[in-house]
Amino acid sequence: MARGQRIIANLLRWGIVAVALALTFLVPTVHFTLERNFIAGILATVSEFDAQQIMEKVIARNPDLWRYEEARLVGLLRQKALGIPVRQAVYDPDGALVIAIGQYPTPPSLSTRIPLRDAGIVVGALETSTSLAPALRTSFIIASLVAVTGTLLIVLFELIPLRRLRKAESAVQYMAEHDPLTGLLNRYVAESRFDQEMKRADRYGFQLALILFDIDHFKHINDTFGHTKGDEVLRRLTKVAKEHIRSTDALVRWGGEEFLIIAPYTDPAMARNQAEKLRRLIERKDFGLGERVTISLGLCACEPGSSLQSNIERADAALYRAKCAGRNRTEEADTATGRQKAI
Ligand code: GH3
Ligand code: MG
Ligand code: MG
Repeated sequence: MARGQRIIANLLRWGIVAVALALTFLVPTVHFTLERNFIAGILATVSEFDAQQIMEKVIARNPDLWRYEEARLVGLLRQKALGIPVRQAVYDPDGALVIAIGQYPTPPSLSTRIPLRDAGIVVGALETSTSLAPALRTSFIIASLVAVTGTLLIVLFELIPLRRLRKAESAVQYMAEHDPLTGLLNRYVAESRFDQEMKRADRYGFQLALILFDIDHFKHINDTFGHTKGDEVLRRLTKVAKEHIRSTDALVRWGGEEFLIIAPYTDPAMARNQAEKLRRLIERKDFGLGERVTISLGLCACEPGSSLQSNIERADAALYRAKCAGRNRTEEADTATGRQKAI
């Protein structure tokens, strides 16, 4: 991903987190404020209404009569306003409780206290209160829902594309390192694989060998049986070679019908053995062509610290001689003497 795209992706990512967090606090806060204002409005209306009725029906000038009017007050006061349970209390001018209807509300609560006046003189008070706990509970549920939804959104926006990106990255990496026809490592990876093995071989003092092999007269196979059949031969041969090599070996499609085995822990005798075994396996394998398919092989023991390029050149020279010598055979490059040894 380009730097600019990464910055935009990061901004988007943190933007989504910020919006989710803001909504988690904002939505329930707005809900609670609206609910509180609504309840406050109801309480104010109910208080005004009841106060008016009390003043009309109770002889307000004589505060002593409050007590005798208790039954009538009970009749006047309401406990519920639009489904909200309320507590109402009437006080005499000295502030003493005359009558209270309903439970004390559980905190947090909201209350209004309005004076009862007769000709401008305060003759008592009416207090109306209710609990804000149900509204707060609903706001908390809303906050939880928003938080859960926000988290899910973040997961959706964040993790799923990331997983897809990682999958795409590994697909691209696979494509860059493998040959599409045979699924083998391609020659671009061979270099790093060889360097790795060479370092290990140098460090631990074991031998490393290369086996380069090429299908004999492959052009003839293509020309006689068609390109598709030729592809099939390449795939079948790959299968045989893959089953033949050891788990520590690397099998590379070096070119069109040319393959390379990087074989660690392998001295020249072992490499010869391995090459010959593979040659015989291919020779005996039925490729469904009605004629046999053979390979020629060139092998070389790699000198410590030598490059892939130099070893390939030596193995290729040996392979070339195997071809010249009649094909379906193995030739070995000998560095020490410069001799090429036929098997
Ligand atoms: P030699 O014994 O000397 O190796 O002869 P050859 O015919 O095998 O060698 P040559 O280099 O003349 O021909 C190789 C052929 O392999 C030519 C090319 O079209 C064919 N080839 C290369 N890659 C593919 C492939 O992926 N599929 C198919 N079907 N053919 C391929
Ligand atoms: Mg060939
Ligand atoms: Mg070739």
